[in-house]
Amino acid sequence: MIEFSNNVARLEPSATLAITARAKAMQAEGLSVINLSAGEPSFPTPEPAATAATAAVAAGKTGYPPTPGLPELRSAVARYSAETTAAANAESSNILVGAGVKQVLFNVSYCLFGPGDEVLVPAPYWPTYLATVHLTRATPVVVPLDWSDGFRLTAATLDAHRTDRTKGLLLNSPSNPSGAVMGRPDLEEILAWAGEHDVWVLSDEIYRRLYYGKGSATSVLDIMDRPSRVVALDGMSKTFSMPGWRIGWGVGPPELMAKASALQSQTTSGAAGPSQYASAALLDSPERESIIENFRSALERRRSESLKVLQQISNIEVYDQPGAIYHYLRLRNGQTSVDAAESLLTQAGVATIPGEAFGTPGYLRITFAGADELLTEGIRRIAEYFG
Ligand code: PLP
Repeated sequence: MIEFSNNVARLEPSATLAITARAKAMQAEGLSVINLSAGEPSFPTPEPAATAATAAVAAGKTGYPPTPGLPELRSAVARYSAETTAAANAESSNILVGAGVKQVLFNVSYCLFGPGDEVLVPAPYWPTYLATVHLTRATPVVVPLDWSDGFRLTAATLDAHRTDRTKGLLLNSPSNPSGAVMGRPDLEEILAWAGEHDVWVLSDEIYRRLYYGKGSATSVLDIMDRPSRVVALDGMSKTFSMPGWRIGWGVGPPELMAKASALQSQTTSGAAGPSQYASAALLDSPERESIIENFRSALERRRSESLKVLQQISNIEVYDQPGAIYHYLRLRNGQTSVDAAESLLTQAGVATIPGEAFGTPGYLRITFAGADELLTEGIRRIAEYFG
Protein backbone atom coordinates (compact mmCIF):
# COMPACT_ATOMS: atom_id res chain seq x y z
CA MET A 1 0.00 0.00 0.00
CA ILE A 2 1.32 3.44 -0.85
CA GLU A 3 1.87 5.72 2.10
CA PHE A 4 0.44 9.01 0.94
CA SER A 5 1.53 12.34 2.35
CA ASN A 6 -0.39 14.26 4.98
CA ASN A 7 -1.31 16.75 2.26
CA VAL A 8 -3.90 14.33 0.93
CA ALA A 9 -4.78 12.57 4.17
CA ARG A 10 -8.41 13.68 3.94
CA LEU A 11 -8.74 13.60 0.15
CA GLU A 12 -11.64 11.69 -1.37
CA PRO A 13 -12.65 11.69 -5.03
CA SER A 14 -15.58 13.97 -5.78
CA ALA A 15 -18.74 12.06 -4.75
CA THR A 16 -20.84 13.90 -7.29
CA LEU A 17 -18.47 13.11 -10.17
CA ALA A 18 -18.24 9.48 -8.97
CA ILE A 19 -22.03 8.98 -9.05
CA THR A 20 -22.21 10.60 -12.46
CA ALA A 21 -19.45 8.27 -13.70
CA ARG A 22 -21.32 5.26 -12.29
CA ALA A 23 -24.55 6.31 -13.99
CA LYS A 24 -22.69 6.69 -17.28
CA ALA A 25 -21.07 3.25 -16.87
CA MET A 26 -24.51 1.70 -16.27
CA GLN A 27 -25.83 3.44 -19.39
CA ALA A 28 -22.85 2.06 -21.35
CA GLU A 29 -23.84 -1.46 -20.20
CA GLY A 30 -27.21 -0.84 -21.83
CA LEU A 31 -29.18 -0.17 -18.63
CA SER A 32 -31.84 2.51 -18.67
CA VAL A 33 -30.53 5.15 -16.29
CA ILE A 34 -31.68 8.76 -16.21
CA ASN A 35 -28.89 10.88 -14.87
CA LEU A 36 -30.18 13.67 -12.66
CA SER A 37 -26.93 13.79 -10.70
CA ALA A 38 -24.62 15.97 -12.78
CA GLY A 39 -24.80 19.73 -12.39
CA GLU A 40 -24.42 20.31 -16.08
CA PRO A 41 -26.69 22.47 -18.25
CA SER A 42 -27.74 20.68 -21.43
CA PHE A 43 -27.38 23.61 -23.86
CA PRO A 44 -24.76 23.67 -26.61
CA THR A 45 -21.84 26.12 -26.42
CA PRO A 46 -23.06 29.55 -27.57
CA GLU A 47 -22.07 30.34 -31.13
CA PRO A 48 -19.87 33.44 -30.46
CA ALA A 49 -17.69 31.33 -28.15
CA ALA A 50 -17.36 28.35 -30.50
CA THR A 51 -16.53 30.62 -33.46
CA ALA A 52 -13.89 32.57 -31.52
CA ALA A 53 -12.21 29.39 -30.31
CA THR A 54 -11.93 27.84 -33.77
CA ALA A 55 -10.76 31.16 -35.23
CA ALA A 56 -8.05 31.43 -32.57
CA VAL A 57 -6.84 27.90 -33.28
CA ALA A 58 -6.91 28.49 -37.06
CA ALA A 59 -4.89 31.66 -36.55
CA GLY A 60 -2.26 29.72 -34.63
CA LYS A 61 -2.98 31.42 -31.30
CA THR A 62 -2.03 28.29 -29.41
CA GLY A 63 1.02 29.37 -27.41
CA TYR A 64 1.13 29.67 -23.64
CA PRO A 65 -1.32 32.36 -22.56
CA PRO A 66 -0.19 34.72 -19.76
CA THR A 67 -0.57 32.87 -16.45
CA PRO A 68 -3.29 35.10 -14.90
CA GLY A 69 -5.31 35.02 -18.14
CA LEU A 70 -5.32 36.70 -21.55
CA PRO A 71 -5.47 40.50 -21.19
CA GLU A 72 -8.60 40.54 -23.37
CA LEU A 73 -10.33 38.00 -21.13
CA ARG A 74 -9.36 39.75 -17.90
CA SER A 75 -10.68 43.04 -19.22
CA ALA A 76 -13.82 41.32 -20.57
CA VAL A 77 -14.41 39.88 -17.08
CA ALA A 78 -13.89 43.35 -15.56
CA ARG A 79 -16.48 44.78 -17.97
CA TYR A 80 -18.90 41.90 -17.35
CA SER A 81 -18.58 42.41 -13.58
CA ALA A 82 -19.09 46.16 -13.96
CA GLU A 83 -22.12 45.69 -16.19
CA THR A 84 -23.83 43.04 -14.07
CA THR A 85 -22.91 44.09 -10.51
CA ALA A 86 -21.96 47.32 -8.79
CA ALA A 87 -18.23 46.56 -9.27
CA ALA A 88 -17.72 49.53 -11.56
CA ASN A 89 -14.08 49.86 -10.64
CA ALA A 90 -12.88 46.27 -11.19
CA GLU A 91 -9.62 46.23 -13.13
CA SER A 92 -7.59 43.49 -14.74
CA SER A 93 -5.26 43.41 -11.73
CA ASN A 94 -8.28 42.37 -9.62
CA ILE A 95 -8.93 39.38 -11.86
CA LEU A 96 -7.37 35.95 -12.00
CA VAL A 97 -8.54 33.52 -14.69
CA GLY A 98 -8.07 29.80 -14.06
CA ALA A 99 -9.27 26.41 -15.26
CA GLY A 100 -12.71 26.80 -13.70
CA VAL A 101 -13.91 28.24 -10.41
CA LYS A 102 -12.55 25.08 -8.82
CA GLN A 103 -8.97 25.99 -9.67
CA VAL A 104 -9.28 29.64 -8.65
CA LEU A 105 -10.98 28.66 -5.40
CA PHE A 106 -8.14 26.24 -4.67
CA ASN A 107 -5.41 28.75 -5.53
CA VAL A 108 -6.90 31.55 -3.47
CA SER A 109 -7.64 29.23 -0.52
CA TYR A 110 -4.13 27.79 -0.63
CA CYS A 111 -2.68 31.30 -0.53
CA LEU A 112 -4.81 32.37 2.44
CA PHE A 113 -5.36 29.37 4.68
CA GLY A 114 -3.03 26.91 6.36
CA PRO A 115 -2.53 24.70 9.42
CA GLY A 116 -4.15 26.18 12.51
CA ASP A 117 -6.68 28.27 10.59
CA GLU A 118 -10.40 27.62 10.63
CA VAL A 119 -12.66 28.21 7.66
CA LEU A 120 -16.43 28.41 8.05
CA VAL A 121 -18.43 26.30 5.61
CA PRO A 122 -22.24 26.58 5.83
CA ALA A 123 -24.07 23.26 5.23
CA PRO A 124 -25.48 22.08 2.94
CA TYR A 125 -22.27 22.82 1.05
CA TRP A 126 -20.75 22.04 -2.31
CA PRO A 127 -18.43 19.13 -1.36
CA THR A 128 -15.37 20.73 -2.96
CA TYR A 129 -15.33 23.40 -0.23
CA LEU A 130 -14.50 20.84 2.42
CA ALA A 131 -11.93 19.14 0.22
CA THR A 132 -10.29 22.47 -0.63
CA VAL A 133 -9.97 23.53 2.99
CA HIS A 134 -8.54 20.12 3.87
CA LEU A 135 -5.96 20.43 1.10
CA THR A 136 -4.76 23.73 2.60
CA ARG A 137 -4.47 21.81 5.90
CA ALA A 138 -6.70 24.32 7.60
CA THR A 139 -9.78 23.06 9.45
CA PRO A 140 -13.22 23.40 7.91
CA VAL A 141 -15.84 24.35 10.51
CA VAL A 142 -19.24 23.28 9.28
CA VAL A 143 -22.08 25.68 10.07
CA PRO A 144 -25.34 23.72 9.90
CA LEU A 145 -28.30 25.59 8.43
CA ASP A 146 -31.96 24.75 8.84
CA TRP A 147 -34.45 23.42 6.34
CA SER A 148 -37.20 25.15 8.34
CA ASP A 149 -36.09 28.64 7.32
CA GLY A 150 -34.91 27.74 3.83
CA PHE A 151 -31.24 27.25 4.88
CA ARG A 152 -30.90 30.94 5.69
CA LEU A 153 -27.43 32.07 6.77
CA THR A 154 -27.04 35.01 9.13
CA ALA A 155 -24.13 36.80 10.77
CA ALA A 156 -25.42 35.64 14.17
CA THR A 157 -25.21 31.97 13.09
CA LEU A 158 -21.69 32.50 11.81
CA ASP A 159 -20.65 34.30 14.96
CA ALA A 160 -21.72 31.30 17.04
CA HIS A 161 -19.03 29.30 15.19
CA ARG A 162 -16.29 31.93 15.22
CA THR A 163 -13.11 31.47 17.26
CA ASP A 164 -9.91 33.49 17.29
CA ARG A 165 -8.62 31.09 14.61
CA THR A 166 -11.41 31.82 12.13
CA LYS A 167 -9.68 32.99 8.97
CA GLY A 168 -12.21 32.45 6.22
CA LEU A 169 -15.80 31.91 5.16
CA LEU A 170 -17.01 30.17 2.02
CA LEU A 171 -20.26 31.58 0.69
CA ASN A 172 -22.33 30.13 -2.12
CA SER A 173 -25.42 31.97 -3.27
CA PRO A 174 -27.40 30.77 -5.19
CA SER A 175 -26.52 27.54 -3.45
CA ASN A 176 -25.57 24.15 -4.76
CA PRO A 177 -27.32 21.97 -3.60
CA SER A 178 -30.22 23.84 -1.96
CA GLY A 179 -30.96 26.60 -4.51
CA ALA A 180 -31.22 29.07 -1.61
CA VAL A 181 -30.31 32.67 -2.40
CA MET A 182 -29.04 35.13 0.20
CA GLY A 183 -31.03 38.30 0.62
CA ARG A 184 -29.15 41.57 0.40
CA PRO A 185 -29.62 42.56 4.08
CA ASP A 186 -28.21 39.21 5.28
CA LEU A 187 -25.27 39.52 2.90
CA GLU A 188 -24.57 43.09 4.03
CA GLU A 189 -24.59 42.01 7.65
CA ILE A 190 -22.34 39.05 6.97
CA LEU A 191 -19.80 41.19 5.12
CA ALA A 192 -19.82 43.74 7.94
CA TRP A 193 -19.32 40.91 10.45
CA ALA A 194 -16.44 39.50 8.35
CA GLY A 195 -14.84 42.94 8.11
CA GLU A 196 -15.06 43.41 11.85
CA HIS A 197 -13.36 40.07 12.55
CA ASP A 198 -10.81 40.07 9.68
CA VAL A 199 -12.41 37.02 8.09
CA TRP A 200 -11.76 36.43 4.38
CA VAL A 201 -14.95 35.88 2.39
CA LEU A 202 -14.71 33.70 -0.71
CA SER A 203 -18.05 34.06 -2.45
CA ASP A 204 -18.77 31.42 -5.08
CA GLU A 205 -21.31 33.07 -7.37
CA ILE A 206 -21.23 30.61 -10.23
CA TYR A 207 -25.06 30.40 -10.26
CA ARG A 208 -25.62 34.15 -9.83
CA ARG A 209 -27.28 34.63 -13.21
CA LEU A 210 -29.42 31.49 -12.84
CA TYR A 211 -31.92 33.20 -10.61
CA TYR A 212 -35.71 32.87 -10.89
CA GLY A 213 -36.86 35.48 -8.41
CA LYS A 214 -37.54 39.17 -8.90
CA GLY A 215 -34.60 41.39 -9.82
CA SER A 216 -31.23 39.70 -9.58
CA ALA A 217 -29.33 37.64 -7.04
CA THR A 218 -27.07 39.88 -4.96
CA SER A 219 -23.34 39.58 -5.48
CA VAL A 220 -20.78 40.54 -2.86
CA LEU A 221 -19.63 43.00 -5.54
CA ASP A 222 -23.00 44.77 -5.21
CA ILE A 223 -22.25 45.74 -1.62
CA MET A 224 -20.36 48.99 -2.03
CA ASP A 225 -18.97 49.24 1.49
CA ARG A 226 -17.74 45.65 1.57
CA PRO A 227 -14.48 44.97 3.38
CA SER A 228 -11.31 44.52 1.33
CA ARG A 229 -10.89 40.82 2.17
CA VAL A 230 -13.51 39.60 -0.28
CA VAL A 231 -13.15 37.49 -3.43
CA ALA A 232 -16.04 36.86 -5.85
CA LEU A 233 -15.79 33.71 -7.99
CA ASP A 234 -17.66 33.11 -11.22
CA GLY A 235 -17.14 31.42 -14.58
CA MET A 236 -18.41 30.02 -17.86
CA SER A 237 -19.56 26.56 -16.71
CA LYS A 238 -23.15 27.21 -15.66
CA THR A 239 -24.40 30.61 -16.88
CA PHE A 240 -23.00 29.98 -20.35
CA SER A 241 -23.34 26.18 -20.38
CA MET A 242 -19.61 25.71 -21.06
CA PRO A 243 -18.34 23.39 -18.28
CA GLY A 244 -15.93 21.49 -20.53
CA TRP A 245 -14.11 24.65 -21.55
CA ARG A 246 -12.83 25.02 -17.99
CA ILE A 247 -12.86 28.77 -17.48
CA GLY A 248 -13.50 30.49 -14.16
CA TRP A 249 -12.22 33.62 -12.46
CA GLY A 250 -11.88 35.42 -9.19
CA VAL A 251 -12.32 39.14 -8.56
CA GLY A 252 -10.35 40.25 -5.51
CA PRO A 253 -7.51 42.37 -4.15
CA PRO A 254 -4.57 42.62 -6.62
CA GLU A 255 -1.99 41.41 -4.09
CA LEU A 256 -3.93 38.21 -3.46
CA MET A 257 -4.69 37.62 -7.13
CA ALA A 258 -0.98 38.05 -7.98
CA LYS A 259 0.00 35.49 -5.33
CA ALA A 260 -2.66 33.05 -6.55
CA SER A 261 -1.34 33.59 -10.08
CA ALA A 262 2.20 32.78 -8.87
CA LEU A 263 0.82 29.50 -7.50
CA GLN A 264 -0.89 28.87 -10.83
CA SER A 265 2.41 29.60 -12.65
CA GLN A 266 4.02 26.73 -10.73
CA THR A 267 1.18 24.27 -11.18
CA THR A 268 -1.04 24.49 -14.29
CA SER A 269 0.34 27.63 -16.03
CA GLY A 270 -3.28 28.76 -16.23
CA ALA A 271 -6.29 27.96 -18.37
CA ALA A 272 -6.30 26.68 -21.97
CA GLY A 273 -5.82 29.46 -24.54
CA PRO A 274 -8.65 28.58 -26.98
CA SER A 275 -11.09 28.44 -24.07
CA GLN A 276 -9.98 31.92 -23.03
CA TYR A 277 -10.51 33.34 -26.53
CA ALA A 278 -13.95 31.72 -26.59
CA SER A 279 -14.87 33.19 -23.20
CA ALA A 280 -13.60 36.70 -23.98
CA ALA A 281 -15.60 36.79 -27.22
CA LEU A 282 -18.77 35.63 -25.52
CA LEU A 283 -18.49 38.00 -22.55
CA ASP A 284 -17.98 40.91 -24.97
CA SER A 285 -20.63 39.75 -27.45
CA PRO A 286 -23.68 41.98 -27.96
CA GLU A 287 -25.69 38.73 -27.76
CA ARG A 288 -24.40 37.88 -24.29
CA GLU A 289 -27.41 38.95 -22.28
CA SER A 290 -29.96 37.42 -24.67
CA ILE A 291 -28.04 34.13 -24.61
CA ILE A 292 -28.10 34.12 -20.81
CA GLU A 293 -31.78 35.00 -20.76
CA ASN A 294 -32.63 32.16 -23.17
CA PHE A 295 -30.82 29.67 -20.98
CA ARG A 296 -32.26 31.13 -17.78
CA SER A 297 -35.83 31.12 -18.99
CA ALA A 298 -35.57 27.54 -20.28
CA LEU A 299 -34.24 26.53 -16.86
CA GLU A 300 -36.97 28.50 -15.12
CA ARG A 301 -39.61 26.58 -17.05
CA ARG A 302 -37.96 23.22 -16.29
CA ARG A 303 -37.68 24.24 -12.67
CA SER A 304 -41.32 25.20 -12.19
CA GLU A 305 -42.72 22.26 -14.16
CA SER A 306 -40.61 19.74 -12.25
CA LEU A 307 -41.33 21.45 -8.93
CA LYS A 308 -45.08 21.03 -9.45
CA VAL A 309 -44.70 17.28 -10.00
CA LEU A 310 -42.28 16.86 -7.08
CA GLN A 311 -44.65 18.70 -4.73
CA GLN A 312 -47.28 15.99 -5.38
CA ILE A 313 -45.04 13.14 -4.16
CA SER A 314 -46.07 12.12 -0.68
CA ASN A 315 -42.80 10.83 0.79
CA ILE A 316 -40.65 13.80 -0.07
CA GLU A 317 -40.73 17.54 0.59
CA VAL A 318 -39.30 20.13 -1.71
CA TYR A 319 -38.59 23.82 -1.21
CA ASP A 320 -39.47 26.44 -3.80
CA GLN A 321 -35.96 27.96 -3.88
CA PRO A 322 -35.17 30.72 -6.36
CA GLY A 323 -31.71 29.90 -7.71
CA ALA A 324 -29.18 27.48 -9.28
CA ILE A 325 -30.14 24.29 -11.11
CA TYR A 326 -31.16 21.86 -8.39
CA HIS A 327 -34.08 20.66 -6.32
CA TYR A 328 -33.03 19.49 -2.87
CA LEU A 329 -35.54 16.86 -1.78
CA ARG A 330 -36.17 16.07 1.86
CA LEU A 331 -36.94 12.43 2.50
CA ARG A 332 -39.87 11.40 4.65
CA ASN A 333 -39.95 7.66 4.08
CA GLY A 334 -37.54 6.75 6.90
CA GLN A 335 -34.77 5.68 4.54
CA THR A 336 -31.25 7.12 4.80
CA SER A 337 -30.40 9.22 1.78
CA VAL A 338 -27.48 6.97 0.85
CA ASP A 339 -29.85 3.97 0.75
CA ALA A 340 -32.49 5.93 -1.14
CA ALA A 341 -29.96 7.09 -3.76
CA GLU A 342 -28.65 3.54 -4.13
CA SER A 343 -32.08 1.99 -4.64
CA LEU A 344 -33.21 4.80 -6.89
CA LEU A 345 -30.19 4.07 -9.07
CA THR A 346 -30.34 0.29 -9.07
CA GLN A 347 -34.10 -0.31 -8.87
CA ALA A 348 -35.67 2.77 -10.42
CA GLY A 349 -32.88 3.69 -12.87
CA VAL A 350 -32.41 7.31 -11.83
CA ALA A 351 -29.17 8.81 -10.55
CA THR A 352 -29.38 11.35 -7.71
CA ILE A 353 -26.85 12.57 -5.13
CA PRO A 354 -27.46 11.75 -1.46
CA GLY A 355 -27.40 14.60 1.06
CA GLU A 356 -24.45 13.04 2.92
CA ALA A 357 -22.21 14.45 0.16
CA PHE A 358 -23.37 17.96 1.07
CA GLY A 359 -23.08 17.55 4.83
CA THR A 360 -26.85 17.13 5.31
CA PRO A 361 -28.03 13.51 5.41
CA GLY A 362 -31.72 12.98 4.68
CA TYR A 363 -31.86 14.78 1.35
CA LEU A 364 -31.41 13.98 -2.33
CA ARG A 365 -30.17 16.45 -4.92
CA ILE A 366 -31.47 16.30 -8.44
CA THR A 367 -30.71 18.71 -11.23
CA PHE A 368 -33.36 20.21 -13.47
CA ALA A 369 -30.76 21.40 -15.99
CA GLY A 370 -30.93 18.31 -18.22
CA ALA A 371 -32.99 17.87 -21.37
CA ASP A 372 -36.80 18.10 -20.93
CA GLU A 373 -37.67 14.51 -21.81
CA LEU A 374 -35.00 13.10 -19.46
CA LEU A 375 -36.11 15.34 -16.62
CA THR A 376 -39.76 14.33 -17.07
CA GLU A 377 -38.93 10.63 -17.18
CA GLY A 378 -36.47 10.89 -14.25
CA ILE A 379 -39.07 12.59 -12.06
CA ARG A 380 -41.72 10.07 -13.13
CA ARG A 381 -39.39 7.31 -11.88
CA ILE A 382 -38.77 9.17 -8.61
CA ALA A 383 -42.52 9.60 -8.12
CA GLU A 384 -43.12 5.91 -8.79
CA TYR A 385 -40.37 4.93 -6.35
CA PHE A 386 -41.62 7.08 -3.47
CA GLY A 387 -45.23 6.18 -4.20
N1 PLP B 1 -19.02 26.07 -7.62
C1 PLP B 1 -20.17 25.42 -7.46
C2 PLP B 1 -21.08 25.80 -6.33
C3 PLP B 1 -20.51 24.37 -8.33
O1 PLP B 1 -21.67 23.72 -8.15
C4 PLP B 1 -19.64 24.00 -9.35
C5 PLP B 1 -19.93 22.86 -10.25
O2 PLP B 1 -20.74 22.04 -10.03
C6 PLP B 1 -18.46 24.71 -9.49
C7 PLP B 1 -18.17 25.74 -8.61
C8 PLP B 1 -17.48 24.33 -10.55
O3 PLP B 1 -17.13 25.37 -11.31
P1 PLP B 1 -16.10 25.22 -12.50
O4 PLP B 1 -16.69 24.32 -13.54
O5 PLP B 1 -15.97 26.64 -12.96
O6 PLP B 1 -14.84 24.69 -11.92
